[in-house]
Amino acid sequence: MPIVTLPEAAEILAEGGLVAIPTETVYGLAANALDGAAVAAVFARKGRPAGHPLILHARDPRPYARFDVRAERLSAFWPGPLAMVLPMVRESGVVAEVTGCRDTIAVRCPDHPVTLALLAMLPFPLAAPSANRFGQVSPTTAAHVLAAFPELPVVDGGPCRVGLESTIVDLTGPIPAILRPGGIPADAVVLALGEELGAAGDTVAPGSLPAHYAPRARVVLAEDAASTVAALRKAGIRALSILRRPAPAYARVLYAELREADAAGADVIVCEPAVVGGLGDAVNDRLRRAAASWGAPG
Ligand code: AMP
Ligand code: MG
Repeated sequence: MPIVTLPEAAEILAEGGLVAIPTETVYGLAANALDGAAVAAVFARKGRPAGHPLILHARDPRPYARFDVRAERLSAFWPGPLAMVLPMVRESGVVAEVTGCRDTIAVRCPDHPVTLALLAMLPFPLAAPSANRFGQVSPTTAAHVLAAFPELPVVDGGPCRVGLESTIVDLTGPIPAILRPGGIPADAVVLALGEELGAAGDTVAPGSLPAHYAPRARVVLAEDAASTVAALRKAGIRALSILRRPAPAYARVLYAELREADAAGADVIVCEPAVVGGLGDAVNDRLRRAAASWGAPG
């Protein structure tokens, strides 16, 4: 039975097993972050290369990372869709598999009542990437998880409220930098820090690829999807569209709509970019990566 209760999930995790967990961003593929074999199993299950470190999920990540003034300021967003890269606390017991042997670690406290309750039952933090095969569209419902991993135990927490991944802020250098746009807008990060961020692109997140978040069909971006779809259909191409809407709603439905278009047999999915700014930047980041995935290896 793939859908499990919280006590069942806690037991599986304590025994070194993997469980899919709901968060406000996307569903995670979680393992005990203090158990090297369990974390290695996450990489194997996803087909994820070891160079893509995992985010540590905890109610309070402070025992696992060295918090400075900036980190304390950004912790105001927790629980919430923001991960911070910080110097790792060596004695914390977090295994090297989580960070790919780095001396820095990405940490966050997820904002989902079910997973917060699960974390409260566990004597260890969880390492969790998204619960999809590497390079594919992230899951925002339990059914999406089971489509990729039919045997995986899943805690069903309903559809994800934010719908795309956390904002990752690197606080290990002299100037804070966003490694990946996500559920907390860059403007909010700047306001909470009280200082400007490093120029985007100065820092590259390990494991961030131009091609990712890819459905089976080809994704193209168009300001006016309707006219592009009409032209493609005239040429005999099965084209479906995903239309622009206010960014929070767009973020919430994007991955589900990409999956639906695949399921409907689209050859091409024509997506309208979100209005720039706020969550729209994260939506457009995912759209660009999905579009870049066509023909890309992996
Ligand atoms: P996800 O792919 O959603 O699981 O998010 C994990 C991403 O966080 C990785 O692919 C990296 O880009 C970033 N990340 C995790 N740990 C670190 C770290 N120690 N240093 C820099 N970036 C990290
Ligand atoms: Mg992912």
